[in-house]
Amino acid sequence: MRVRNKAWAEPLIEAHPELMITDPLQNKGDWQKRFKKKQPIRIEVGMGKGQFIIQMALKYPQINFIGIEIQRSVAAIALRDALEESLPNLQLVLADGADLNEYFDNGEIDRVYLNFSDPWPKKRHVKRRLTYKSFLHVYQEILVDHGVLEFKTDNQGLFEYSLVSLNNYGFVFDAVFLDLHHSEEAVENVETEYEHKFSAKGQRIYKLSGHF
Ligand code: SAM
Repeated sequence: MRVRNKAWAEPLIEAHPELMITDPLQNKGDWQKRFKKKQPIRIEVGMGKGQFIIQMALKYPQINFIGIEIQRSVAAIALRDALEESLPNLQLVLADGADLNEYFDNGEIDRVYLNFSDPWPKKRHVKRRLTYKSFLHVYQEILVDHGVLEFKTDNQGLFEYSLVSLNNYGFVFDAVFLDLHHSEEAVENVETEYEHKFSAKGQRIYKLSGHF
């Protein structure tokens, strides 16, 4: 997802340190303090404009959610939309998901969501895929024992790659959907922005979930 630089992004982010964190290292081991209630924390790496994480926070008040996004202008859109809801169980982070273990303690996170992650189709970019083994290692570190990873995509190549990468890593699959929107899971499913866009075009949505 690329969006044009937005002049309002920087001042908006600066004005809302209570909701958007730009120096996440300071919260390592202390993330519960950012929320009104102490309850399990789930994160989305690459939240984009935040549609999924905001809807999840609204739907599941008994869970704390953190949306992480690397692009400032994209994260600012998520912040603008999240401000309209004022959710006590939502925090947003402007940072690189590759560094998760620098700003979350071991076992601090209950679940990781990866939604429509950039496919990086070229072989020489394989290490950038968010289901590459170095990323899996980081997720495992920050997750509680048997912590859950959920991954959705429309990209068959990335999905197949991820199945193999996770399997080789020793991940335990709980569910694999080759056509999520025509499965029993569809009723509970919370759509992301990309998911909405792709499924409207008739594209199939893949999903896997399981634990380390
Ligand atoms: N999850 C959203 C959805 O499903 O609508 C957005 C999908 S978009 C294709 C992928 C997003 O992941 C982009 O906004 C991109 O900037 C972000 N991203 C890619 N690599 C990242 C990383 N290492 N850390 C944090 N965000 C990342």
